[in-house]
Amino acid sequence: DHLSNKIAAGEVVERPASVVKELVENSIDAGAAWVNVELLEAGLERIRITDNGAGMDQEDCERAFYRHATSKISNENDLFHVRTLGFRGEALASIAAVSRLTIQTSTGNEAGTKLDLEGGKLVNESKSDARQGTDITVEELFFNTPARLKYMKTIHTELGHITDVMNRMALAHPEVKFTCTHNEKQIFQTNGRGDLLQVVANIYGVNVARKMVPIEAETLDFKVKGYVAKPEIYRASRNYMSTIVNGRFIRHIPLNKAVLQGYHTLLPIGKSPIVVLNIEMDPILVDVNVHPSKLEVRFSKEKELFEVLEETIRRAFRKETL
Ligand code: ADP
Ligand code: MG
Repeated sequence: DHLSNKIAAGEVVERPASVVKELVENSIDAGAAWVNVELLEAGLERIRITDNGAGMDQEDCERAFYRHATSKISNENDLFHVRTLGFRGEALASIAAVSRLTIQTSTGNEAGTKLDLEGGKLVNESKSDARQGTDITVEELFFNTPARLKYMKTIHTELGHITDVMNRMALAHPEVKFTCTHNEKQIFQTNGRGDLLQVVANIYGVNVARKMVPIEAETLDFKVKGYVAKPEIYRASRNYMSTIVNGRFIRHIPLNKAVLQGYHTLLPIGKSPIVVLNIEMDPILVDVNVHPSKLEVRFSKEKELFEVLEETIRRAFRKETL
């Protein structure tokens, strides 16, 4: 019902950046090769996300706006084998509950479906063109939750949060071509050719990319690939340490500490490296159902994982200094 959707929205949709995150995740889950993000006024006025993913037929499209409607897991056991970015089935219902939303989607086989929702209520349904993929426009975010609207920060701050989301998505998915415009000016782009170092260059600049050392390790449980910056370039914040687990950008403080251990005494005290770690493991080894933001995870073989990371980074710099 509308009230519980509005309550759930409070958890899932904190600000425009949360809308961008959830919608881009859906595009990636739908197998999109490209995702376009168009913003007006840092998304407070409009967020439009277009993809060339699998799209939905009419029935699936209608169902997608019910709370807990997910096509991605079907039973409790599936929760331990999540390979998709989404699985809670809350995002679309929550976003629709606090905005005016239009979706056009098609599987490419037949005419597409177009739905208009206002505050979560369906106000119009029609056919749309048959281009395969999905096009979602979210306007007037929080128009019916004035308390939340009041809490929004400046355009500059909100755009900063969206940029963080785009950067993380791009680092986690170099194989997807992302474009992002703000007030009709392009602010971000990747080429979708699958080259992680290229994405690092897009985000941090070529001078940083040139100082990155590739790392690679494989054990029975984990596959680690990525780039670690030489200790001569460092930052004052840990925000430059990116960890991706099974295609999902995560935050994990103890893991960052293990990475720092790998640098040993090479970094100045209190400074952090720029690293991008891509870790693959059996989904059974990582619990992603910790928080609605899906940013926190729990590892069941944490100690082993940390050892691999620390040792791999240590080895990379040992080679470097030879
Ligand atoms: P979840 O991603 O957790 O399943 P969402 O509310 O984000 O839940 O989306 C609900 C459902 O709508 C998804 O399970 C998926 O089937 C469908 N869906 C959402 N966005 C897209 C998209 N861009 N392309 C294809 N299907 C989509
Ligand atoms: Mg989702």
